Amino acid sequence: MAGGHNPREYKKERFRQRFLHKLQYFNERYNANLCIGCGRCIIACPNAVNVLEVINKLKEVQVDA
Ligand code: SF4
Repeated sequence: MAGGHNPREYKKERFRQRFLHKLQYFNERYNANLCIGCGRCIIACPNAVNVLEVINKLKEVQVDA
């Protein structure tokens, strides 16, 4: 971020925010999806992050509300 600000100290926090923003928060706030599942980022990602694998893993997680 500009000025070197880092609102999330740990990598897992940044990873979580990235995907929850894309897949949940934006939709809740603006009623629009940021991901249509086209898969282009899977091909382009330099760290081999597969958004479809992340989504499938998230669906397996049991959340206690
Ligand atoms: S699959 Fe990746 S490139 Fe395609 S819309 Fe979703 S996040 Fe964007």
